[in-house]
Parts: sequence; structure tokens; C-alpha cells
Amino acid sequence: MEWLSNLLMPGGKFLGIEWHVWKVVGWLGNLVFFSRFFLQWYATEKRKQVVVPVAFWWLSLIGSLLLLSYALFYQKDSVFIFAYAFTWIPYIRNLVIQRRHAKAHIDCVKCDFTATPDSRFCAQCGAPLITDTK
Ligand SMILES: [Zn+2]
Repeated sequence: MEWLSNLLMPGGKFLGIEWHVWKVVGWLGNLVFFSRFFLQWYATEKRKQVVVPVAFWWLSLIGSLLLLSYALFYQKDSVFIFAYAFTWIPYIRNLVIQRRHAKAHIDCVKCDFTATPDSRFCAQCGAPLITDTK
């Protein structure tokens, strides 16, 4: 197995990085934070209009908190700490507003279109909306 670890991790480094708990936290933060761009892009291409899915805000929140903890407890660099110190505020605000919006509105079971609370039919596909489940 020695040859395998030498092949994968020459000099004890994988991808040239010396791994420890904070490196995993930091890189996980990078991965989560970066993945939100692909999620948003995919959602926009799928709908052919600019959309920001709810998962975008969750990935933003989780990714930025991981990067903030990396900056606070490992890197301890003021520039990096400041960059992630306040970004969670709009992320949480967007999640709160989205939840309130989702509660007040009706989702079409046929096409996922979100209709206003007083609608009886879906504006996108015309299917009757079930309102008595609330
Ligand atoms: Zn519909």
C-alpha cells in the first residue's frame, strides 16, 4: 500500500496540499460556495430566464460559514475574515423571505409554477389549483 500512498500523495501531500482538519473545512467551503454558481446557471438555462433557486441561498450560507470559520480559527487574516463576516445576513434574509412567500402562495402540482394565494387556476398551464390543503 506504500506505493499507492506515494502515488496519490507524494511527500504526504495530495494535490500539493498538506491536509488537516482546517484545510478540509476551507476546501469544503470553497466547493460548496463555488457549486452555487453552477446550480444557478443550470436553473437559469432550464427555465430560459434568470432564476435564483432556494438551494443557491443555502449553498451560499453554508459555504460562507465554512470559509468564515476557516478564516477565523485557522488563517486569522483580517481581510479574509471581513470578506465573509457579514455575507450571511442577506443569505438568511433571502431564505426568510422565500419561506414567507412559499407559505403565502400555492404551487401548481402539474408544472411547479408558484401562483398567488387568491388564484384558482395555474397561470402557466391552466390546471386547477388545490387550495383547501392549507
Ligand atoms: Zn401549472
